[in-house]
Amino acid sequence: MREVGCPEEDLFSFLSSKRREDLGYRNILSSMCTPPHPVAARAHAMFLETNLGDPGLFPGTAALEDLLVRRLGTLMHLPDAGGYATSGGTESNIQAFRIAKKLKSAKFPNVVVPASSHFSFMKACDILGLEMRTVPLDAEFRMDTEAVDDLVDNNTVAIVGVVGTTEYGMVDPISRLSEIALDRDVFLHVDAAFGGMVVPFLDRPVPFDFSLPGVSSISVDPHKMGMSTIPAGCLLTRSPEWFACLNVDTPYLTVKRECTLAGTRPGASVAAAVAVLEYLGVDGMRAVVAGCMENARRLIEGMETLGYPRAVTPDVNVATFSCDCTPPGWRVSTTRNGHMRIVCMPHVTRDVVEQFLVDMSDIDA
Ligand SMILES: *Cc1c(COP(=O)(O)O)cnc(C)c1O
Repeated sequence: MREVGCPEEDLFSFLSSKRREDLGYRNILSSMCTPPHPVAARAHAMFLETNLGDPGLFPGTAALEDLLVRRLGTLMHLPDAGGYATSGGTESNIQAFRIAKKLKSAKFPNVVVPASSHFSFMKACDILGLEMRTVPLDAEFRMDTEAVDDLVDNNTVAIVGVVGTTEYGMVDPISRLSEIALDRDVFLHVDAAFGGMVVPFLDRPVPFDFSLPGVSSISVDPHKMGMSTIPAGCLLTRSPEWFACLNVDTPYLTVKRECTLAGTRPGASVAAAVAVLEYLGVDGMRAVVAGCMENARRLIEGMETLGYPRAVTPDVNVATFSCDCTPPGWRVSTTRNGHMRIVCMPHVTRDVVEQFLVDMSDIDA
């Protein structure tokens, strides 16, 4: 550290110079994050100093966390779901596995996850000492449920299905997984970190949530399609009591125990997540999602016209192509299979899509 502090103006000119090195979202087509909705930014600023790690000191903010859980639980067809606001999909997935592992005593515990699953499950397995059994995908990059039954055994503590895969935007056959989970009496965790704020707002939503009796827990991230500030995730469980198995005593706080992974936790991004849900309502979210889906369709059609076929027709707003050139100035990503990947987030507007297609066609010229 400096011996003597830096004058504020110098400090902020230094910070601005660093901030200018960041990319603007306009040309970022590779991210599942997006600039926060204006009401999220405003709510975040109001709750900047709040700490949900000591909820007795911030009962108002804690009530907003409860409201977030109730709103998302209701969206997932279980208004009384248990849950709390996590730092994102990674923490939700780790915590879901912790619960699943504690609910079943297994000598050599394993989990059965699709090959498309997010890398956070590798972290979860490493931390928790779980064997990861990978289920192959079908031709459309969805989990091949035929293969699941053979991989499940007496040591299986959880099965995972993904709603909106990170790479291809596919929704696994959760209703089939729900049947398998009930049949084999295994915990079913649905990773809807991305798709949880998309699928419920589609014109024809496929069932993936607590309406399916085998679904035990769901991850859903307000900081992705929920347009909240970062970090805002949520883990929901069918039974609120399951969180008790994660409790540790917290002698010097306003609460006697806590089940969260993080200790000090931001209230600001939770208030921001609630703000967006309340402000937009189901109608508003439907409009946002319809726009993103429409832009994804237009992008796919435009790319195919230019001679870059889609890898698959996605279930949510993630478009993938056989294409290995990117016009200068744009950020796209590449899947493990080498496909170009574009996430049609709210900042990827129709204008942005059209400009990208023009720039793509210039590459050819
Ligand atoms: C983004 C994502 C995650 C990880 O979420 P973080 O918020 O980055 O921790 C997990 N699963 C899926 C399907 C995701 O899309």
